[in-house]
Amino acid sequence: MEVVRKLASIQTVNTIEPIPNADAIERVRVLGWWVVAKKGEHRPGDKIVYCEIDSLLPERAEFEFLRPSSFKPEVRDGDTLVRAAGFRIRTVKLRGQVSQGICFPLAILPPGAPTDEGADVTELLGVAKWEPPLPVGMGGKVKGGFPGFLSKTDETRVQVLEPVLERNRGKTFFVTEKLDGTSFTAFLRADEFGICSRNLHMDEADETNVLARVAKKLELEAKLRAIRDRHGFSPAVQGEIIGPGIQKNKYGLDAPDLRVFNLLDLDAGRLVDYAPALAILADVGLQTVPQLGPMVLDHTIDELVQFSIGSSVLNPRTPREGIVLRPPVEERDPDVGGRLSFKVINPQFLLKFDE
Ligand code: ATP
Ligand code: MN
Repeated sequence: MEVVRKLASIQTVNTIEPIPNADAIERVRVLGWWVVAKKGEHRPGDKIVYCEIDSLLPERAEFEFLRPSSFKPEVRDGDTLVRAAGFRIRTVKLRGQVSQGICFPLAILPPGAPTDEGADVTELLGVAKWEPPLPVGMGGKVKGGFPGFLSKTDETRVQVLEPVLERNRGKTFFVTEKLDGTSFTAFLRADEFGICSRNLHMDEADETNVLARVAKKLELEAKLRAIRDRHGFSPAVQGEIIGPGIQKNKYGLDAPDLRVFNLLDLDAGRLVDYAPALAILADVGLQTVPQLGPMVLDHTIDELVQFSIGSSVLNPRTPREGIVLRPPVEERDPDVGGRLSFKVINPQFLLKFDE
């Protein structure tokens, strides 16, 4: 089950703090985010409309002030409108303070809109998700939609998960580096081998697709069969494909490669827990995303964001996109709306690369 990200929602201003050496602006805390705003515009306890980074706000009078800094023209494919024009909310830095998202008074809402805390007003306001231009090399023959027996890969941002941090304080989590590539799944089910992009079941035989080329190069079918034969279950692996032609090849690889972050037992319909998954992947010679080790969760959101800042293990000259935290034993979490797992995106990475 995919959980829809609330791009625009009703929130309460938690706190407001001054920014050193800035007299016209201050920082406002909403959820686990810091937003820079004009001084005096908001007060603690105010209910506001909060729009997260990656929001694309529609061309409306209230948002016109964003035009000089944030306008994105419409995208068309022939006669079809792929994405309407709008104003894109991105991570910025003002007077040394990282600002993520934007706050508006409730007055921007149409009459009758919900104003209860947490209410999702994304559609009501016509807010869309900003998606970067499509990755190249993702063509190739499609076999169908994303198979129903698999779940799509996704991670929730820690900034909306304060209750999850509270509930899991003192628990050990395993940290991996979040890689910036493209999501990939390979499965072996009822003796059928298949591969998927983030959203589609692709033809594993069509090597115009980089995913099919990686599957072949890594002999993924043979490796999945080895998992089944040696470990006794029908597996799927999910990971990130990185390399030339993908997300600007930030890690400077010579050829596309796969780094695995999930191992699924399709017979049991569950994810394999952390340690056994690592052992099984190593056993068949599959590389994982960089392992940054265990940590006992006793951190605020701000501390985790600090911790996410650093270089990539794969290329020390490039900032890492972020980190992903998972427990040793898979569990469901009501606030995450799926497995307990979340991401902390490195703000330096967003400032540098989020075009
Ligand atoms: P958002 O949901 O925040 O709008 P998004 O859905 O585009 O963004 P990403 O920011 O790409 O998601 O983050 C989730 C993706 O991160 C996963 O789908 C997976 O492909 C990828 N990923 C990369 N490295 C890891 C890792 N170490 N652990 C888990 N997932 C990872
Ligand atoms: Mn997502």
